Amino acid sequence: MKVLLISTYDLGHQPFSLASPAATLSNAGISVTCNDLAVDTLNESAAINADMIGLYLQMHTATRLSVALLPKLKQLNSHAHISFYGLYAPLNADYLRTIGGDSFIGGEFEDGLLKVCNTLLNNNSASKFNLISTKKQNFIQPLRNGLPNLDKYAHLIMSDNSKKVVGYTETSRGCKHKCRHCPIVPVYHGRFRVIPQDLVLADIRQQIEKGAQHISFGDPDFFNGPGHATDILVKFRNEFPKITFDATIKIEHILKHKDLLPMLKEAGCLFITTAVESVEESILDHLNKGHTRSDFVLATRIAQEIGITLSPTFVPFTPWTTTDGFIDLLNTIAELNLIENVAPIQLAIRLLIPNESYLLKLPQIKPYLKEYDQEALSYRWQNKNHSVEKLCSVVQNIVETGAQKKHSRIKIFKTIYRAALESKGSRQTSIPHIKEQSGFKIPSMSEPWFCCAEPTKEQLARL
Ligand code: SF4
Repeated sequence: MKVLLISTYDLGHQPFSLASPAATLSNAGISVTCNDLAVDTLNESAAINADMIGLYLQMHTATRLSVALLPKLKQLNSHAHISFYGLYAPLNADYLRTIGGDSFIGGEFEDGLLKVCNTLLNNNSASKFNLISTKKQNFIQPLRNGLPNLDKYAHLIMSDNSKKVVGYTETSRGCKHKCRHCPIVPVYHGRFRVIPQDLVLADIRQQIEKGAQHISFGDPDFFNGPGHATDILVKFRNEFPKITFDATIKIEHILKHKDLLPMLKEAGCLFITTAVESVEESILDHLNKGHTRSDFVLATRIAQEIGITLSPTFVPFTPWTTTDGFIDLLNTIAELNLIENVAPIQLAIRLLIPNESYLLKLPQIKPYLKEYDQEALSYRWQNKNHSVEKLCSVVQNIVETGAQKKHSRIKIFKTIYRAALESKGSRQTSIPHIKEQSGFKIPSMSEPWFCCAEPTKEQLARL
């Protein structure tokens, strides 16, 4: 049996979610080809010869790209079983079925994909698979040989502008929290699953042997299982003393496990990505984020004292956003000396409400909610203040232009600040706290994190 596994976009990393199922299927004697369209062209001969094509739907952008790719795959091979897997597969199964999907596997997907293959091998129809599983998987060391070299992917830009080749792995999947806007929650419902420590270390080892100088731990939250994470880090530090890493940790966990932060720093942590989303208490409450504005301020101070860079992410545009609230967010970022730490795209993100989002259960969203937009794979909503909607478009344009012209973060921040003042009709010309910014650079990825953006022309052209 021949299987083609395709990823269209995985946040600039070599996809763990191709390498891990590739190992599971190969171990069962299935011939697997991996094709990462984020950095490669479509392997047409593998598509033509495949009995099963698995499309990995990491999140929103990957799903939009996979939907755009599907007609071409069908044209090349109308007989292959099409299996969508990843978080967005079960959430969009009804729609994906209408465009030619056969099976839909969410959550822990390795065993599910194997089950589909075995069913097809036994000449049975696997089309009944619409599976969400959070069951412990039989993990095998990810098979990365068939993927493009690590230097083809996003690299880490250090403060002195030198570059590091980045590897990527996960120590856990899912999340024990239930933030209402998070697409992980409708699939995992507050559960998370760990990946065995020896396999995590073996995966790191094989990437370092291929040139990785820095490891991104891509767990939704590295401290969902702090004991598991720190055990891995102790072994990581002993075996790879020169390799640095980054991880994603929520504000609540940074505070709860602040005693572990010096150990992270000592083990080579260069930065922590943390989903702050908002500095308004009512919005944080609507999103069920589990932290307050002052928690964010405290977490920032603690990280700064220890010397670990925080890289906060935000959802600035929500149904409840006001222009004053947006300016307050910008002021807070400037006050905390975080302008250089925030990727400009984070100031332009508009809340995304996918199918089955826990936000749909929140009474406070109802006055703003409109119909489901099939093409956009999300519910439409509108802020009742039109000037905020307009400001959102203006900020998105500023960020896009800034990226094209390679403007610095501070320049883009100032332009956004002025646009916000203009939107308010303010006569203020100065930007508070901006002089305190030293303009220093922090380590950052060459490709900013965004899972919910419109596919770009370049991404669509590669399909
Ligand atoms: S902590 Fe992060 S990963 Fe977990 S539910 Fe909240 S947003 Fe999602």
